[in-house]
Amino acid sequence: MSTTHFTLKQSDIPTQWYNILADFAEPLPPPLHPGTKQPVTLQDMLAIFPENLVMQEMCPDRWVEIPAAVRDIYALWRPTPLLRAVRLEQALQTPAHIYYKYEGVSPAGSHKPNTAVAQAYYNKQAGTQRLATETGAGQWGSSLALACKLFGLECVVYMVKVSYHQKPYRKMLMHTWGATVHSSPTRHTEFGRKILDKDPECPGSLGIAISEAIEDTVHHPHTKYSLGSVLNHVCMHQTIVGQECMKQMELAGEEPDVLIGCVGGGSNFAGLVFPYLQHKIAGKKSYRVIAVEPTSCPTLTKGDLKYDFGDTAGMTPLLMMYTLGHDFIPPSIHAGGLRYHGMAPTVSHAKKLGLIDAVAYPQTKIFEAAVQFAQTEGIVPAPESAHAVAATIDEAVAAREEGKKRVILFNLSGNGMLDLASYDAYLAGHLK
Ligand SMILES: *Cc1c(COP(=O)(O)O)cnc(C)c1O
Repeated sequence: MSTTHFTLKQSDIPTQWYNILADFAEPLPPPLHPGTKQPVTLQDMLAIFPENLVMQEMCPDRWVEIPAAVRDIYALWRPTPLLRAVRLEQALQTPAHIYYKYEGVSPAGSHKPNTAVAQAYYNKQAGTQRLATETGAGQWGSSLALACKLFGLECVVYMVKVSYHQKPYRKMLMHTWGATVHSSPTRHTEFGRKILDKDPECPGSLGIAISEAIEDTVHHPHTKYSLGSVLNHVCMHQTIVGQECMKQMELAGEEPDVLIGCVGGGSNFAGLVFPYLQHKIAGKKSYRVIAVEPTSCPTLTKGDLKYDFGDTAGMTPLLMMYTLGHDFIPPSIHAGGLRYHGMAPTVSHAKKLGLIDAVAYPQTKIFEAAVQFAQTEGIVPAPESAHAVAATIDEAVAAREEGKKRVILFNLSGNGMLDLASYDAYLAGHLK
């Protein structure tokens, strides 16, 4: 029997996060104050974030210690498995070796608790009592709901209206973990009321929900805001994924040639690839690194690299990133977690510096790939992760056509057990 499962011990959970800011050959342009257009100060950020996380956002150190209390909670589901997809390889008749890191084993079913737990911990330390956030398909809201419950914080979630109706089970999950959930746009905020007065049928967007969560934060005492992707500290928290992969690939006795991840705001991709990019930047390795996004929200492949707001109302600092414009409202595709107008500044910078490539895939193609994966490997991928699956299959087919082996590693960022309605729509031929 061939080994397909590369298992680590609890003591192998990384003890430090990796900060790519320490290694970029060119420094990342700083976030700017939306009013003055000057670099934001610590003081500016304290209105919505606790000081310890702002310090981490700006931290220049290469390695940041993971608090013991955070590692203890990680141990509920980490280290996550790394598997070789031998049945998929056989079905594709490819000489490529396909490996995947499976982040869907977390209680919320995705990589997002990796940062939710860290953020809840630092907020608790800083005296925060209540966290406000937004969520698209509900993966982030449910991850933060769980993390808040574990650290005794209140959690309020502004959930994009289309997803609130398309994905009722994640709303139930958030309720189970004790959070309050609003369908955004709401009438609870001035910005939400403004949007609804103009368009009562507005389906909502992540940008609008972020604006509402920030407005909620500044109007409630002891409340801070929490973001599930995009920011430097969020991408850094996810680097435990790539660090575990390095140990597991060593157990497998192979080194990846190609690294692949889907991108919404960029965090699961960053988590897998940043620890590898450290060695690419140092000139020791020449990995090909591919970010995969939906053609309907093509931030990296069609957006502009410029300063833009993270939200629709223009309340956040301006971030230097690939963006489709902060007022872009993407079509209601099923991979709700990839419907964000911008891209993490660190991922954008890596693209600008030529460290990574980007490709875009249409919805029908990613479901076709996801079904093939489910029928060979068993796991039903989250529609977001299915983008990485589709690009992986294309790489494996290219290897077959060239008749050359290549080792592919992708991040299976979550499972699709709460997204089966979108599989149903695909199988019934209803997807556009
Ligand atoms: C949220 C989500 C994504 C997209 O977010 P990133 O910050 O780009 O990782 C991808 N996969 C899954 C399963 C998600 O829940």
